[in-house]
Amino acid sequence: MASPHLADPQQAIDEALRAFYLEKAKEKLPKRFLYWQNITGLKPLKVHYRHLQKCWGGCNEDDEITINTEAIKLSNKVLDYINIHELCHIVNKNH
Ligand SMILES: [Zn+2]
Repeated sequence: MASPHLADPQQAIDEALRAFYLEKAKEKLPKRFLYWQNITGLKPLKVHYRHLQKCWGGCNEDDEITINTEAIKLSNKVLDYINIHELCHIVNKNH
């Protein structure tokens, strides 16, 4: 049976890009988050890295923070903003 990639090269490109960004996200996002965690002294219970559809990140009532793996495609400045924003939710849940 032929590989589905041969039938649809665009799908192969999309899948390769998704895998590439996910690998980079796993590599870079925790490092940047930890950097800001240490600077702010704010400690979440847990940090999750997931593909989210509608937001860049979130912090629940238990101080578990989720960062959207798509944030790897943003500039460092914007990524830092997201990290700091979510860390601030440990202190203030409402804004
Ligand atoms: Zn917020």
